[in-house]
Amino acid sequence: MKLSSSPLYTASQIQERVEVLAEKLSQDYAGRETIALIVLKGALHFGSDLLRKMTVPVSIDFIRAKSYKGAASTGRVEFLVPPSLPLKGKHVVIIEDILDTGLTANAILGRVNAAKPASVAICSLFDKPKCREVDLRGDYVGIELERQFVVGYGMDYEERYRELPDVYVLEEEE
Ligand code: 5GP
Ligand code: MG
Repeated sequence: MKLSSSPLYTASQIQERVEVLAEKLSQDYAGRETIALIVLKGALHFGSDLLRKMTVPVSIDFIRAKSYKGAASTGRVEFLVPPSLPLKGKHVVIIEDILDTGLTANAILGRVNAAKPASVAICSLFDKPKCREVDLRGDYVGIELERQFVVGYGMDYEERYRELPDVYVLEEEE
């Protein structure tokens, strides 16, 4: 597998979308006790950029859910890091890198809902609606993608490429 010769989205194109999402969230979460639940590892850069662009107070927590082996979803979701803050009565925003089959976000939703928050929303930088296997939609979505596998800006292929500032398509080698 190799990277596309040019980025699908450059760092500055991504920041434009991140700004729009931060503005919407800042409007919707003004005056609410909000916890941003960043899904590790993929949403590391997105979460960090998004929260620094927001103009309302927000607490930060992390969750690590692993569901991917290579480029194909296994459908099994493991919680390697559970949230550390009590979510009860709080407005929780789950911050994801990408929604694909929807299985991971769905499992995280179940886990968060069990803690009886005041509300839950999903904010994902990328969304592949054509790949969905469960009925789930992002409340805040930055960029819609076709059926393609992307890496960079936090997103990996077998733990590579997360450090890249731009987003590339992962392609088959000839
Ligand atoms: P889902 O459970 O929705 O199928 O998958 C969600 C998770 O799978 C994402 O958080 C991400 O870690 C991984 N994933 C899904 N699509 C892609 C992709 O195109 N590229 C990368 N690098 N990871 C993906
Ligand atoms: Mg992920």
